Amino acid sequence: MKISVFGIGYVGLVQAAALAEVGHDVLCVDIDAARVEALEQGIIPIYEPGLERLVVENHGAGRLRFTADPEEGVQHGYVQIIAVGTPPMEDGSANTRYVMAVAGAIGRAMTSEKIVVSKSTVPVGTCDEIHETITAELDRRALRALGFHVVSNPEFLKEGSAVSDCMKPDRIIIGTDSADAEAVMRELYAPFNRNHEKMIFMDVRSAELTKYAANCMLATKISFMNEMASIAHLLGADIEQVRLGIGSDPRIGYDFIYPGIGYGGSCFPKDVRALIATAAKAGAEVNILKAVNQRNDAQKRLLFELVQQRFEGQLSDKTFAVWGLAFKPNTNDMREAPARVLLEALWDAGARVRAYDPQAMNECARIYGERPELVFCDTKEHALCGADALIIATEWKSFRAPDFALVRKALRTPIIFDGRNLYNAKQVAVHGLEYRSIGRPETI
Ligand code: NAD
Repeated sequence: MKISVFGIGYVGLVQAAALAEVGHDVLCVDIDAARVEALEQGIIPIYEPGLERLVVENHGAGRLRFTADPEEGVQHGYVQIIAVGTPPMEDGSANTRYVMAVAGAIGRAMTSEKIVVSKSTVPVGTCDEIHETITAELDRRALRALGFHVVSNPEFLKEGSAVSDCMKPDRIIIGTDSADAEAVMRELYAPFNRNHEKMIFMDVRSAELTKYAANCMLATKISFMNEMASIAHLLGADIEQVRLGIGSDPRIGYDFIYPGIGYGGSCFPKDVRALIATAAKAGAEVNILKAVNQRNDAQKRLLFELVQQRFEGQLSDKTFAVWGLAFKPNTNDMREAPARVLLEALWDAGARVRAYDPQAMNECARIYGERPELVFCDTKEHALCGADALIIATEWKSFRAPDFALVRKALRTPIIFDGRNLYNAKQVAVHGLEYRSIGRPETI
């Protein structure tokens, strides 16, 4: 099947590569000409495990191509997938400007029937707007008879495991009221639907809301656990024991109940705020979502507050080793990363940072530029040299079993502030290290 994918970011590039891998003929379109040029040369703009091989091989086989020309994109695909960003606006609502720009481009250039698929996370009602935008362009060109359908097909991939999520999706949500569009979507995803039925069909608005409901539910689980952690801390309980205790109930389960320093990334924070904004416009009261958002904002500052308390506000002459910058492991993405709140608070307090992250240091350098209070280190051990204490902000696997004796020796003050509860407190204490984590008793 001929497919065009607009937007070559985390979602567009991974989904395009997955569709090409199963044999579809995919043309990717992006307004960022430098990105298109780089991809043509095999340079992958984002880090995702397994992505480079998929892109390079399928590009080599001619099934995955790139262009900065939207018209070429519109001409190529029977299926037109919109996977551009929907960043937050000042009031928290999602900005659908880029989505509508693609819809306009499709309406201006289409000369044959199309299935237009909205894969971006968009507020309920956006597919209707896409439909109106394309219709208006067709009217202008006196081509109203040209057939097209707009389908909602929200994406559920997780950064860090995006390739395997796309190759083996848990579910494929399709919102459409057209039998023809349903048949095309079945054919498009048939290669991903062999093991068992994963496709769930529903009306367009329900599909649009399903994406927000899923992300808001997951964000709620995280904020709930973080709230429990703050209670545990004050009451002298250990949230990690509590986590194991409640996770054993199958109605609750072990997934997504890790306490920490808040959720980040390009989706949860913006999607929670966007649904709050959508609900407000619709006149719905959303106390839970507001609380989820507030808890997360507070949680992101917690690690800095632990550091500030321990050093009694005297941070201006201190240097901290920071392990982890990405908002979660296996990605280089730092959008809304808790580490950013930490770094900025440390700098505001006059402290310096020696940072290490396996993938996100280039991204961090791009965001903050060169500055004396930020030094990037080649290894996690190198980051410890000359540091007063160690702070852990991301749970990369390579941080799970450090050489504690070396950590103890390298730090001026032997303390670990662990924002991800990676270690067994007793084990850390054996090495003479002070240990402060989230929702657990402090150990000296
Ligand atoms: P991204 O910022 O990584 O990529 C978006 C791309 O779209 C950029 O390369 C940009 O240059 C391009 N673009 C903008 N306007 C364009 C236009 N008119 N024509 C062609 N290209 C254009 O974004 P992302 O993280 O891939 O997210 C895309 C959408 O998918 C968002 O709505 C997001 O909420 C949703 N989503 C993201 C994830 C995730 O984990 N990142 C998961 C599920 C859903």
